[in-house]
Amino acid sequence: MSLSKFYKKSIKERRLIIQSLKDIPLSEMNLLNHESYIPNDKLDLMIENVLGYYPLPFGIATHFNVNKKEYLIPMVIEEPSVVAAASKSAKIAKIHGGFSSGPIQPLMIGQIQICNIDSKEERNEIFEYIHKNKDNLICFLNKQDPVLIEHNGGVKDIQIREITNNDQLFIILHVIVDVRDAMGANIINTMVERLADKLRPEIPGRINLRIISNLAIHRVAKSRAIFDKDALGGKEIVKNILDAYFFALNDPFRAATHNKGIMNGIDAVAIATGNDFRALEAGAHAFASFSGQYLPLTRYFLHPEGHLIGEIELPLAMGTIGGMISKHPGAQLSLKIMDINSAEELCQVTAAVGLAQNLAALRALADEGIQKGHMKLHKRI
Ligand code: NAD
Repeated sequence: MSLSKFYKKSIKERRLIIQSLKDIPLSEMNLLNHESYIPNDKLDLMIENVLGYYPLPFGIATHFNVNKKEYLIPMVIEEPSVVAAASKSAKIAKIHGGFSSGPIQPLMIGQIQICNIDSKEERNEIFEYIHKNKDNLICFLNKQDPVLIEHNGGVKDIQIREITNNDQLFIILHVIVDVRDAMGANIINTMVERLADKLRPEIPGRINLRIISNLAIHRVAKSRAIFDKDALGGKEIVKNILDAYFFALNDPFRAATHNKGIMNGIDAVAIATGNDFRALEAGAHAFASFSGQYLPLTRYFLHPEGHLIGEIELPLAMGTIGGMISKHPGAQLSLKIMDINSAEELCQVTAAVGLAQNLAALRALADEGIQKGHMKLHKRI
């Protein structure tokens, strides 16, 4: 059977085609049908070749207190024990006041790659042009998105970097944009494309890529909490957790799994709120290796009274508007449940979730092992 013009078919027609092609009972194909959730005409515009929905469990983590505000945390995830573990850590953190998360500037980076720079003179010409015209270029770009400007966002800077591939020089422009409550990829991509069009006739070289960087080093979220030693299980568990952290600090094989535990929580919140979890994953792991060595995204220290201090630091490009956030009823419901008023607040809470998730995994590993609790939950199904 031909799948030609498959994308032009209706959702129902596509399901019928796949059903007959693969000889699947209609009742099974109809598992994908949840038209009452998002009408088919809207669903069909979200991605290509849509057949329907693939539901995942939606749970709520409890006990989160972040910057003195109580939160319920919606989590969409298929892995058992993640929601329970986050709630348990949050309850322990609450004993000493919960999580403190710092302010976050919603600054994202758009990159423009300039290739075919044939001489030192051409290189200098590009540098000179950008330095001389920076203010005008920023002004030009800020006229492109009046809504963003109304919300006090917009382009803040244009920076120049140089990188080489063997003997080939690339000049890389970084356009720094305050994207306010958006994740920012569409904002950034539009801006760098417009800037590239404006630059092309003015500078030597060939402009190649124009795209957001997911290594959002200017949008780093930080959160901190004190975890009570007795609630953790005593002095020995605290020591075991610290040793587990030192393991991750010095071994990328362990650090990868350490960070996976963090992303269990962060991705679950990202999916629940309609955010781009692939962008967060890319940013987190690039940030983890920014020093040249892949490191854990959390740190742990001993408190003078024997408690455990935990800190997390990672880029979080999350929005409360834009992308599918405004269109997806589940994402809107999540933001209501969280009672979130800005992208900054969402990132502050999500960072706390990442820290809680990591502490829970370390506590389980340093005590009974991960399998006892994990498998107990697995076996319930
Ligand atoms: P968007 O373009 O849908 O929305 C942003 C727009 O909303 C702004 O341009 C502004 O005009 C308007 N707006 C209204 N109120 C605002 C406020 N308070 N703050 C900021 N803007 C406000 O969304 P986006 O965040 O630019 O793009 C996100 C989407 O881009 C995601 O779906 C993501 O998956 C996708 N994407 C990601 C990548 C990547 O990460 N590499 C690449 C391409 C696309």
